[in-house]
Amino acid sequence: MVGVEGFEPPTSCSQSRRATKLRYTPVSPDRYGFQNIRGRPAQGLQSYPRAPGRSIGRRRLCARAGACETLRRQRPADTAGRPARDGRCRSKCHHGQPMTANILDGKKLAARIRQDVARRVGNLRAAGGRVPGLAMVLVGHDPASQVYVRNKRRACDEVGIVSHAFDLPADIPAGELYELIGELNRDDGVDGILVQVPLPPHIPGATVIELIDPGKDVDGFHPYNVGRLAQRVPLLRACTPRGIITLLGETGIDLHGQRAVVVGASNIVGRPMALELLLAGATTIVCHRFTRDLRAEVERAEILIVAVGKAGLIPGDWVRPGAIVIDAGTTRLADGRLAGDVQFEAARARAAWISPVPGGVGPMTIATLLQNTLEASLRHQGLALPPERLQGSA
Ligand code: NAP
Repeated sequence: MVGVEGFEPPTSCSQSRRATKLRYTPVSPDRYGFQNIRGRPAQGLQSYPRAPGRSIGRRRLCARAGACETLRRQRPADTAGRPARDGRCRSKCHHGQPMTANILDGKKLAARIRQDVARRVGNLRAAGGRVPGLAMVLVGHDPASQVYVRNKRRACDEVGIVSHAFDLPADIPAGELYELIGELNRDDGVDGILVQVPLPPHIPGATVIELIDPGKDVDGFHPYNVGRLAQRVPLLRACTPRGIITLLGETGIDLHGQRAVVVGASNIVGRPMALELLLAGATTIVCHRFTRDLRAEVERAEILIVAVGKAGLIPGDWVRPGAIVIDAGTTRLADGRLAGDVQFEAARARAAWISPVPGGVGPMTIATLLQNTLEASLRHQGLALPPERLQGSA
């Protein structure tokens, strides 16, 4: 088995800003985002350069004819200086092809991550280690929560993580829930604790989150973990934002300096998402209910992340040509279909990359929960990551 050295991310103030940035740069050879907890000595990370810069959606802008804004900026001689006779761009783009965004397929990527987690859990077991355990606490009978928890338990079973189910009545006194969390904190067989939200009104969610041992907070909601992310030394990161960063890695686009706009500022998606994007070097703007001109902010976004929960809130024609669009919103429509916050078809005709709903962010959230649980378990067992993962060869 591998030793513990080098696994724990640095916390000492001797780490320079540059070293920390290199360590936690999400775009790296490892497409699964594993590099963020790789925990190598800082100098070792100097070997991870910034991903080669790629222009967002450059080749996809040709069908915009005279409106090829990105190309005009990048190749003035080809566009602004020499207007095309047929009204189309003259540069290295695909003339006249209808513009359709690449799909960011969260389902496929999540399946790869789950396979990887399963393989590593198998390695752990084979090496005599303890199989990771995840306690899932469900209070009440909210149908959506029941589905989410069932899916998470099934995902654990598939990869070999032991799931411990705690289904509690909706009227359970808050004190009993607190006691259960204390017991789970002390239980050596439990590496991760997940309390499904929303909780009944008589149980204060913030108190529950703060009672969870930060080292077992696989949801990444504990103030300690949010604070670590804010200080660029992340430990356990919120699943949906981390999953989105992993998904963004699929585009191959360097996030440094990109103008990222997050619509939605909740504690579980919008805010940690903004921190993740900052960590990745993006210039980040967060919009919420009080944002004065949402359209203007969205139109300037090179990377647009939407997590509001209002179906079709963002019309497709607000999307900047060539942008990357990630839609975390999920709303169940009257006809039973799931809808995102972005008007998909219209946005797809303008974006370079877009995540669908369903099949985009949702599967990534669960896959990331499995990653977090495995990583928490390795940390509890004092084990480093398997060497192949340290090399970031994905
Ligand atoms: P939430 O707690 O209700 O937060 C919604 C956020 O949107 C708030 O910050 C709110 O602003 C903002 N907002 C509301 N109306 C707005 C408007 N017109 N313009 C701009 N911002 C507006 O929701 P959440 O928990 O973050 O979830 C958001 C969506 O993501 C939901 O559809 C949820 O189902 C989905 N989600 C998906 C996953 C997944 O794995 N796929 C995971 C988590 C959540 P204020 O802060 O000012 O109120």
